Amino acid sequence: MLKVGVIGTGMIGQDHIRRLTTVLNGVAVTAVTDVDTAVAADVGGRIGATVHATGEELVGDPAVDAVLVCSWGPTHEQYVLAAIAAGKPVFCEKPLATTQEACLRILDAEAAHGSRLVQVGYMRRFDFAYRALKMAVDSGEIGLPLMMHCAHRNASVPPFYRGDMAITDTAVHEIDMVRWMFGAEVSAVRVLVPRHNRNGGELEDPLLLIMEMADGVIVDVEVSVNIRYGYDIRGEIVGENGTASLGGPAPVAVRRDGRVGVPVPADWRERFLQAYDVELQEWVHAISLGGQPLGPSAWDGYAAAAVSDAGVEALRTGNRVLISLVDQPKLYAEAAG
Ligand code: NAP
Repeated sequence: MLKVGVIGTGMIGQDHIRRLTTVLNGVAVTAVTDVDTAVAADVGGRIGATVHATGEELVGDPAVDAVLVCSWGPTHEQYVLAAIAAGKPVFCEKPLATTQEACLRILDAEAAHGSRLVQVGYMRRFDFAYRALKMAVDSGEIGLPLMMHCAHRNASVPPFYRGDMAITDTAVHEIDMVRWMFGAEVSAVRVLVPRHNRNGGELEDPLLLIMEMADGVIVDVEVSVNIRYGYDIRGEIVGENGTASLGGPAPVAVRRDGRVGVPVPADWRERFLQAYDVELQEWVHAISLGGQPLGPSAWDGYAAAAVSDAGVEALRTGNRVLISLVDQPKLYAEAAG
């Protein structure tokens, strides 16, 4: 039984605790912590977990074999570094850290440890539909991939959502996904700002992010975060001989009164419910077998941060922004997702 400590008992922290305690096998949540001590005490009390005053104290708990970091992004670096220092596997919700420099400090710490301890929570790699899409591309049946059209649509976003978050919080999932899908880095980005959606007030919405991959594939991502009708994730890959695309938003269509009706998920929790389950079950399995995590690595977290920073610069300046990554440490050369 893998004993996991959870840092951050907010929205996704509580959702992951639910799946670790009621859905997945071979794992127990033995400790929790949160800056909001009342929430941590409530969540910990319900599952019989030790409630720690700080993340560092939780990492040092001998009843914690592995750590899940679900706190606010700016705190991720300190907890990931604490887990690496203790030699404990750590699953960190995205982003790995909020600056590229912080990501590089994590890469250095993991390299000094000598083996992979870190997995970053980019869950699309575990989604059934995206995995099927990747299999279609890898099989060669549509020839070499040339382009990908993506859409990332949210019904609405909370009031604290600001312009840059369309790149750093929303499109960052496509940024990680296309690196995995095509096995190539993103070499340049630009951002076009179409006519403004009045549903979003002053927010620059929608945006069109265009990514150039190092192998020549070009990806466009429509980010629309106030589109009202639901949460809709789309992707179509154009190859030399055909196309491969994600299916519709639902497995069932209802036909009546001369119309076809297909439900659209309300939000990311509904759309990616099973992807989160698979993501954490595979992580638990890999760690329990004494192995290294196989999902998105600290390198992937760093690369996504570099592309996302370039995307923010492209949005602010209107320029095409080139991306150059540091040399990839040997540890990550065979990182798989
Ligand atoms: P949230 O509801 O605000 O939860 C974050 C929790 O962490 C809050 O309870 C917060 O407490 C707590 N926290 C803040 N600083 C802390 C510290 N120093 N030590 C311990 N706990 C601390 O946010 P969320 O939506 O769950 O997001 C958490 C992380 O998950 C973010 O990095 C987000 O990007 C990521 N996320 C990923 C996905 C995905 O699709 N993979 C989806 C959702 C979220 P206070 O509220 O008191 O500050």
